[in-house]
Amino acid sequence: MSGVREVTVIPLGTHPRDVSLEELRSGIEQILPVRITIRPRPVDIDSALDASRKQYHSTSVLALLLQQAEPHTERLLGITPYDLFVPVLTFVFGQAQLNNLAAVFSTFRLHNEFYGIPRSGEQLAARCLKEALHELGHTFGLRHCIDHPCVMNSSTYVEDIDLKPADFCLPCREHLEIVL
Ligand SMILES: [Zn+2]
Ligand SMILES: [Zn+2]
Repeated sequence: MSGVREVTVIPLGTHPRDVSLEELRSGIEQILPVRITIRPRPVDIDSALDASRKQYHSTSVLALLLQQAEPHTERLLGITPYDLFVPVLTFVFGQAQLNNLAAVFSTFRLHNEFYGIPRSGEQLAARCLKEALHELGHTFGLRHCIDHPCVMNSSTYVEDIDLKPADFCLPCREHLEIVL
């Protein structure tokens, strides 16, 4: 046991609309033994923009996020309203370094409005929390979980996010208890 991990949450590009980082912080801290620091000022990620796709290359975004690391930094969680992609996929909800410092997720496709249905602050907050926990889970060495209902289940569609719990299954939790 190495004690409580420090996680720095950083808005990327600009502040995500309708998302309370304070609410996200308390949600994460209720599930994971981490202490969250929120950096209020967004970090510029313009250089990660793919102008032809009008999306941001998430691997480049992770590299930009890593430039924000300080000597004591344990984990960096970026949150951006911009749409993310990796070249082989149409989009990604997020990306993380397995067992390493940096994770990012996008709120772009977490809004009901994106799918033409009425906005729901509650659903948006729940999806943000699940994405944050999922990507942080990767940084703590967890891979996709297929055996149980678990926040580490992979999500292709927003419905997949809605179906999974905002918590880790027992085997994933046991892994976290060893590494955290
Ligand atoms: Zn994943
Ligand atoms: Zn699991």
